[in-house]
Amino acid sequence: MNKPVVATASLAGCFGCHMSLLDIDERLVELIDLVEFNKSPIDDIKKFTKDVDIGLIEGGCCNTENVEVLKEFRKKCKTLISLGECAIMGGLPALRNDITVSECLAEAYLDGPTTVNEHRILPNDEELPIILNKVYPCHEVVKMDYFLPGCPPSADLIWEALVALITGEEKEIPYALIKYD
Ligand code: SF4
Repeated sequence: MNKPVVATASLAGCFGCHMSLLDIDERLVELIDLVEFNKSPIDDIKKFTKDVDIGLIEGGCCNTENVEVLKEFRKKCKTLISLGECAIMGGLPALRNDITVSECLAEAYLDGPTTVNEHRILPNDEELPIILNKVYPCHEVVKMDYFLPGCPPSADLIWEALVALITGEEKEIPYALIKYD
């Protein structure tokens, strides 16, 4: 029997949500029995080789490449999940949303207290993705099907949600896994 296929991506995130997925520890062995991974930093598959059942997205969209990757995931994945606060609401990268891009670039590359940039050159290689005016949560770019909160979501929450989706069994996620007070 074909296993459900899972893909993951990190957009404007810190990889903490991926680390939390790996934190399911020995259940990783069970997960490998249950699913097949496709495009993901976990197996280092860079391009989709087939359609995918479950896509997990860490991070929101801060540049044109993030938008491109997210749209590709939406096309390829039957179910797409915002994993963590950066995907759900922009998270820490969205702290720049009240500041203009030119002010951010100036602080990072020209005027920051530890910056050494004698010729005051801003990164300008044409292969670099264009920075967006602000950081967008994933659901403002494409339709997202589910949201797993937390920074990062706990390993147990990710595990419970994945098993429910894979087995198709409706599960009640314990309140303790989704409260953060
Ligand atoms: Fe990192 Fe938290 Fe954002 Fe996940 S939600 S990518 S752990 S900052």
